[in-house]
Amino acid sequence: MPVVTGAHELVDTNTYVDLRGVLGVNLHVKCEGFNFGGSVKLRSAAWMVAEAEQAGRIRSDTVLVESSSGNLGVALAVVAAAKGIRFVCVTDPKCNAAALRSMRALGADVMVVDEADEQGSFLSARKARVRYLCATHPGHLWLNQYENVAGWKSHYHITATAIAEEFAALDALFIGVGTGSTLTGCARYFRDYRPEVRIIGVDVVGSVNFGGVAGSRHIPGLGASESMPLVDSRIVDEVMRVPESDCVGMCRRLATQGLLLGGSSGTVISAAHRWLEAHDPRRLMTAVAIAPDLGDRYLDTIYDDAWVADHYDGAVTDLWRRELTR
Ligand code: PMP
Repeated sequence: MPVVTGAHELVDTNTYVDLRGVLGVNLHVKCEGFNFGGSVKLRSAAWMVAEAEQAGRIRSDTVLVESSSGNLGVALAVVAAAKGIRFVCVTDPKCNAAALRSMRALGADVMVVDEADEQGSFLSARKARVRYLCATHPGHLWLNQYENVAGWKSHYHITATAIAEEFAALDALFIGVGTGSTLTGCARYFRDYRPEVRIIGVDVVGSVNFGGVAGSRHIPGLGASESMPLVDSRIVDEVMRVPESDCVGMCRRLATQGLLLGGSSGTVISAAHRWLEAHDPRRLMTAVAIAPDLGDRYLDTIYDDAWVADHYDGAVTDLWRRELTR
């Protein structure tokens, strides 16, 4: 049993669900939702704060400030609380109520900005508010998850290492892309130590990552409305772009099997399922998909019938109804 001195050190959660019985492909899902803070983001949050501390950038009066659609905010609230550092999260109306309440329960200050661009993204407004706070308040420090290399390093040293240790034989690894920290960290690790593993980046329709066309997106976590500096597309073998409708369908289907996962998990698993069906008809491969969080943050969206009917057209609603009655 590892000895830890606080929740921020609990970054070694390493739980897998085998989806062979559910989807008929040899896919193992690494469930990051069991971390404190409920998501994969605990890893980059812990690493970014540790590197800032080591560099002497955090003093007793420092206030951390970060822009987040939810998960990094909760993760940083965990780390900041465990270390006695003040934290302000700048988020937007798409951040779900459970994440907002978790941040506040953990002692963080939360600011919600509501100026969207034409695609409905709040990213520029969130970043502008963070810059304003840092410029006008001495002692405020922006860790900048969009550019901080500690983000991908955390996945190189923790996430990828854990997967490599667990799977002596691995053919493909599926990773969702938001800031790109999970993808870049894992891809660099496997390029260095296990180059035979195919790395497949999973993005959503409407994201500009990998040269995509900006469009409206409703589910937070995956995708980006502006190009993300941490995304290193040279070391990715393939990119799959999944419509949000597939995400809803797969989340609903997995829920019927007792697996209540988050939106980006449904997206990544649906891409992995499609890829394995096409590339591995004889079921000889072993694949892993990283599931960034659990479904309890999406009960008012992906798992709410009225929300789905409001946000997607009839074809989509039919799709998940079919999935539900399979
Ligand atoms: N899924 C969810 C639910 C997330 O919160 C995030 C982080 N925004 C991602 C996927 C993408 O992770 P990364 O930022 O490492 O690309």
